[in-house]
Amino acid sequence: MLIHMSTFSGNFNSSRAAHPSMQPHRVEREDVVATIRASCPTCGDVELTSGDVTVLICSTNNEGAYAFQCPACRLAVSKPAEGRVIDLLVSSGVQMSVWQLPAELHEPRNGKPIGYDDLLEFHFALQGDDWMTELTSALATDDER
Ligand SMILES: [Zn+2]
Repeated sequence: MLIHMSTFSGNFNSSRAAHPSMQPHRVEREDVVATIRASCPTCGDVELTSGDVTVLICSTNNEGAYAFQCPACRLAVSKPAEGRVIDLLVSSGVQMSVWQLPAELHEPRNGKPIGYDDLLEFHFALQGDDWMTELTSALATDDER
């Protein structure tokens, strides 16, 4: 990934230093454009602007990634990124989105994993008219253990 900053007027770096907030700083009549070169697995290097890319931060494990849709083949591309790349992307105006791992990952797991026999049994149970009653009564029995 390569990020190239260009401004139509003024110096982006000096204006950033004077305003260290995460919000992109825009002086009147100054338009900041960051050209981001990223790689699509199908098309190779593609050029994007900060609006085309999204930074994704997982709040559970603090891992970062960036995502974009390839302008050539429309493939959705997502790649892991280190902190300094994330910082650079965010400071060049890329929007950041924070997400967390699904809560189901922390649910306790009991019993054996579902196997082919269970699946077959379930398939045959669905053939009957009262499969829902059988299923819920089986679950109630499981909970009592
Ligand atoms: Zn592509």
